[in-house]
Amino acid sequence: MDTDEFREFGKAAVDYLADYTDTLRERPVIPNVEPGYLGRLIPDEAPEKPESWQEVLGDVERVIMPGMTHWNSPQFHGYFPSAVSYPSIVAEMLSAGIGCLGFSWMTSPVCTELEVTMMNWLGKMLGLPEQFLNCTKGPGGGVIQSSASVATFVGLLAAKERTTRRMMKLHPDWSEADIKAKLIAYTSDQANSSVEKAGLLGSMPMRHLPSDEHCRLRGSTLLEAIEKDEREGLIPCYVVATLGTTGTCAHDCLEELGPICNDKNVWLHVDAAYAGAAFVCPEFRHLMSGVEFADSFDFNPHKWLLVNFDCSAMWVKDSRYLVEAFNVDRIYLAHEKEGQQPDYRHWQIPLGRRFRALKLWFVMRMYGVQGLQNYIRHTVNLAKQFEGYIRNDDRFEIVTEVTMALVCFRMKGDNSNTRELLDKLLARRKIYVIAATYREKLFIRFVVCSSLCEARDMEFAWKEVSERATEILNPVPQQDVAVMSAIESSKEPATNIATMIKDLKIEHGLKEKAPKIS
Ligand code: PLP
Repeated sequence: MDTDEFREFGKAAVDYLADYTDTLRERPVIPNVEPGYLGRLIPDEAPEKPESWQEVLGDVERVIMPGMTHWNSPQFHGYFPSAVSYPSIVAEMLSAGIGCLGFSWMTSPVCTELEVTMMNWLGKMLGLPEQFLNCTKGPGGGVIQSSASVATFVGLLAAKERTTRRMMKLHPDWSEADIKAKLIAYTSDQANSSVEKAGLLGSMPMRHLPSDEHCRLRGSTLLEAIEKDEREGLIPCYVVATLGTTGTCAHDCLEELGPICNDKNVWLHVDAAYAGAAFVCPEFRHLMSGVEFADSFDFNPHKWLLVNFDCSAMWVKDSRYLVEAFNVDRIYLAHEKEGQQPDYRHWQIPLGRRFRALKLWFVMRMYGVQGLQNYIRHTVNLAKQFEGYIRNDDRFEIVTEVTMALVCFRMKGDNSNTRELLDKLLARRKIYVIAATYREKLFIRFVVCSSLCEARDMEFAWKEVSERATEILNPVPQQDVAVMSAIESSKEPATNIATMIKDLKIEHGLKEKAPKIS
């Protein structure tokens, strides 16, 4: 492909993406395919001869889109958001096009320096304590990881290194292997699966401590567990507290957990993968009070801050522990300016690293702090709108307090109606929601995810939920379904048909009153 063709291809791809975004609301959010669908659409072997870009790009709609779950559709309310924005897409294109790797300052000075500066901008925007920032005196600083899972694992490895060194100094007669075998980590029973995985990968048992009735991990629970383990000769090493749990967006009590961790020399990592973005708005910052006790803090701009995957922002109070844990030198990695700026290969697991700071730069400049705050507030208000519908209908209940843009709700009674509601919603594929449980109660998580979401999308989702609930609580007898479809296809004058259908619908509770918003 020559440069002229690249220009055409690239422009056509941008046009395609713009059209895709404009038509997202009309596309079914959940694909209608069965496993193996792709095998019928593409050949088993790579083509012998080159194909044109027109053929390849044309196949995106034919082959790719039928199997796509549209994460940025305004009808996508599952998991947490997967951010996207035009400034971020363009920055990602530039980064791909430039194609540099920035594992040391020397391999691309701008990669490192822009990342240092962006992590300072972002940290200040969130109101993080100064010790986490690189612009203050001291060993703190920020780094972009690929995901929150990786950040939790990196924190665990640094904690392991720090505790092992400390114990070796305290007990020179203990072997490193003996110390490592006694290390133990803690989190709550609400922590993300990635926290358990970090324990598995890092060979450190992870205790899942019970959370309180608001799904939060409390200090007394942690202290009790730590003291019990200490009595049994184990060495408490690492605590992962979550701000914004995946299930219910609960916030562990950092103000209680922090002093215990500091007192016991246990590394405290804060996983704020989703909720962290909300801290750009001062009114949410009370939810992170106690963050000053943490050793590391991570959140995903790639979830709720309009920066596309992957971009996970991690800060540490003392980067020397990372460097000690991850420092492996080779002659070919050395350079003359070492020590003046971070060599980020020491702050992460892989050697190679992408130029991700570029998309933070584009997004922060083109939205500004105010634009990002407005965006977060807009999504939270939409969630409030949806919450209002649920609260005003006594067939439903809200499961936990709605603090951000996640609404957890269920149908009253045992779990069977909620299960049926979920099955019906997914079978119809009009909106995407997922299930979660808390203390045996099944509930539905509804997250305002897409940056395209508007009030009408909340109305749409509510109508879909409400009508399915009506079907469950008020099933229409089969013979009436038959009557209704017979009437609908009959040759009666339109006004008669409309009246007959309306009467039947009212009889079966299918005619909805206009929803009230509190
Ligand atoms: N932590 C929490 C609280 C999450 O909700 C998630 C994902 O939703 C993760 C961690 C994992 O994030 P990532 O996919 O960036 O590893």
